[in-house]
Amino acid sequence: MTDQDLASAVFRKEVLAMSAYKVMNAAGMIKLDAMENPYSWPDDIKNRWLETLKDCSLNRYPDPEAGRLVKTIRTVYQLQETAGLLLGNGSDEIIQLLLMALPSGARVLSPDPGFVMYGQISRCLGLNYVGVPLRPDNFDLDLPATLSAIDSHRPSIIFLAYPNNPTGNLFSETSIREIIEKAPGLVVIDEAYEPFAGASYLSSLAKYDKLLVMRTVSKLGLAGLRLGYLAGKPAIIEQINKIRLPYNINILTQASAEFALGNTLLFDEQIRKICTERMVMFNRLSRLNNIRVFPSVANFILFKTGENQADGVFGDLQQQGILIKNLSPQGGLLRDCLRVTIGKPEENAAFLTALEKSLASR
Ligand SMILES: *Cc1c(COP(=O)(O)O)cnc(C)c1O
Repeated sequence: MTDQDLASAVFRKEVLAMSAYKVMNAAGMIKLDAMENPYSWPDDIKNRWLETLKDCSLNRYPDPEAGRLVKTIRTVYQLQETAGLLLGNGSDEIIQLLLMALPSGARVLSPDPGFVMYGQISRCLGLNYVGVPLRPDNFDLDLPATLSAIDSHRPSIIFLAYPNNPTGNLFSETSIREIIEKAPGLVVIDEAYEPFAGASYLSSLAKYDKLLVMRTVSKLGLAGLRLGYLAGKPAIIEQINKIRLPYNINILTQASAEFALGNTLLFDEQIRKICTERMVMFNRLSRLNNIRVFPSVANFILFKTGENQADGVFGDLQQQGILIKNLSPQGGLLRDCLRVTIGKPEENAAFLTALEKSLASR
């Protein structure tokens, strides 16, 4: 028996059919592929942070409920007392927990193109994932198509990224509310990019029992910590909490997030800079011939090249030391599409120069 035969005999067919989530090696490159905040902390803040880490007992297990951090998150984001809260090792883990709690054969629905993890984790768990195409003109929800898919598939969970990744737009509010009203199960509003969009459904939690709001500190500027959270009705959160591993938020993350959320002014300043740069970048991209750029309220911009040129442009940029994300291989509405994360002004300028050069050579 070969190792491959052994693996095939042991593991589920859904797992065998998957390919691993691939992260490109970005060593030495200008990294504009993963929606990271490009700014680090000033030295005085770094030193204060390191001071707090001195008190962490690495020989002990962390607080399984991350009680202090939970309290801080509730205060900083003004969460209603009636809402339940669950922390995850990144919001990716929360998506996994939600899906692991579903019965086998359950259906999961989300707009397409959307965040890849919804489909990837669903398929790996043997659930039925249904992607409903967005409107090709503006990437907004196709409400009739979505309602009809809800009717025929009766999904246990609907994921709506708000703003959407990789398109960068906010779905229309009337469509979202109608979807929440018609949903037979839960609706998760994924607000990973809330810091850049300033729009949220957190205040609607009291109104809809089936609504859950998911957030992360990753895009805010703490991607290395791995911390996400989910707010919703306590009876729902309680069930998901049962399958959460007890120590999913490690002690360094608890302490660091606690510290960082006490310094939100620093992030506000960084976010403001990123949003200003987003406008500069959008305007410059809009002036280029041969590409179509889509408006974004997130910290990235999606654009579309001429037919069959995305791979070439992506390769040219890579050769010039600039890594963005090539979405064209995903096909569908993302054919010929590339996504660039907003970086520091000088990084964005280097990207634009390289892009102009690449487009001029075609
Ligand atoms: C980046 C992203 C996430 C994952 O966030 P982590 O907390 O880093 O796991 C979730 N949802 C969307 C839409 C994202 O773009």
